[in-house]
Amino acid sequence: DQLGAVLVECRQVARYFGGVHALEDVTLDIRAGELVGLVGPNGSGKTTLINLLSGAFRPTRGVIRLDGRDITRLAPHKIAHVGMARTYQIPRPFDSMTIRDNVAMAVMFGPESLPLNRARPIAEQHLATVALDHLADAYPADLNLHQRQLLEMARAVASNPKVLLLDEALAGLNPAEVDNAVRVVRRIHESGITIVIVEHLLRVLNQLATRLVVLDRGTCLADGEPQTVLNDPAVIRAYLGR
Ligand code: ADP
Repeated sequence: DQLGAVLVECRQVARYFGGVHALEDVTLDIRAGELVGLVGPNGSGKTTLINLLSGAFRPTRGVIRLDGRDITRLAPHKIAHVGMARTYQIPRPFDSMTIRDNVAMAVMFGPESLPLNRARPIAEQHLATVALDHLADAYPADLNLHQRQLLEMARAVASNPKVLLLDEALAGLNPAEVDNAVRVVRRIHESGITIVIVEHLLRVLNQLATRLVVLDRGTCLADGEPQTVLNDPAVIRAYLGR
């Protein structure tokens, strides 16, 4: 696989919460076509980095660019329009709408701003991508946790992002659901979307990711090909040392 241009640039990004240095001096390039696994012990700064990339928080220091544009101080919805989508650990669907219309809403408010009747067939394609097309007429209350997370991915993909940030998208799933979610993430990646995924299951990321970035105490401890990173003594120490 060929890697494209640099899509996301983090330059010496730091974020403090009072005296807590959640992130310290993270410099990172993500290229088009990568599927980056973001890992590290609890409290190492993974969610903070996702929150900075998506604009939920602003960095204390440093610069973040997306597709050449400085997004460091942009509001989250503007960052979404430049091409960064994210999922949340706790999905927040519209409970009174069908699964189809939940995704159609994301299509309608995406870059093309289509009317509902044109957004619905596109929504159905996105539901097929996440293997939820058979539930298009159901409601969020009918879905289990795994299916809610898939819906969340479909909504993120419907905004037509360049980069998709997946925060703990496989958390709390049984093994069959993890396998299904991995297939879905692969399919989204193959459709041309660059992905950053936060995930605790290293075994899964070893198969899925093209690259692993390891955070430890807010800094980047290792970065590279998954097999190499997982065998790095410093990485093993960071995981076992707590
Ligand atoms: P991870 O996702 O790797 O578990 P986090 O990014 O959630 O790590 O947290 C990194 C550090 O920053 C932790 O010490 C955490 O307590 C702190 N932190 C994260 N978010 C906040 C916040 N909103 N307010 C205060 N401290 C925070």
